[in-house]
Amino acid sequence: MPSPLSTALACRCPRCGEGRLFEGFVTVRARCDHCGLDFSDHDTGDGPAVFLIFILGALCVPLALWINAAFEVAFWVPAVVAGAAALGLTFALLRPSKAYIIALNYRHRSGSGSGTGTGSGTGSGSDNGGGAAPPPA
Ligand SMILES: [Zn+2]
Repeated sequence: MPSPLSTALACRCPRCGEGRLFEGFVTVRARCDHCGLDFSDHDTGDGPAVFLIFILGALCVPLALWINAAFEVAFWVPAVVAGAAALGLTFALLRPSKAYIIALNYRHRSGSGSGTGTGSGTGSGSDNGGGAAPPPA
């Protein structure tokens, strides 16, 4: 099994490491075109974007403050520089971060690897399947 980081950086399938993961900029394919892994079980939602917002915000805001303190520049220069850095890094890192979360999701959640999506009982025990619904009030 290829490492999640290497498949994420190459934006490849987490199971075979060969098939392409995306069909658009961040649109995940339905299946791997090499091994047939069903990617629909590995929906990341907004997780990668949220991680990038937190991480890049923590980096770019101090960058803007440092530029403002270190150089004699107009008030808008730090905002433009840090904003451009945040935008560029977001576009550069969005695909690999999404691919990394899919790869980690595949490695740690999928027990069977067959892609049928029913789960194999390896969960934490708090799944929705076993418990009864609470009584109506
Ligand atoms: Zn594959």
